Amino acid sequence: MSIQLGGVCQPGTTRANKTGGWRTFRPVYDYDKCIKCKLCELLCPDMAVLPRDDGFFEFDYDYCKGCGICANECPKEAIDMVLEEK
Ligand code: SF4
Ligand code: SF4
Repeated sequence: MSIQLGGVCQPGTTRANKTGGWRTFRPVYDYDKCIKCKLCELLCPDMAVLPRDDGFFEFDYDYCKGCGICANECPKEAIDMVLEEK
């Protein structure tokens, strides 16, 4: 994507840029520990935590940047950050 003079981007580019490629570590759920408190969904800065019909969550790896906030803030340590394999 080229950026115009002045750094102004066209609207809608956030969805077009799949930022998951920036990730070094990927979050992985341990559903046996999860209590469905929703903190991971609320705190993810990229809205990359998606609710499932069963009340648990899953990651949208197209956009998750691997920042680790969800894993750090989970009260039950139900999210592991594992080294990304490309
Ligand atoms: S923050 Fe942890 S316990 Fe809460 S919903 Fe997310 S994974 Fe489950
Ligand atoms: S690692 Fe960061 S970007 Fe990825 S789901 Fe967790 S909080 Fe969101």
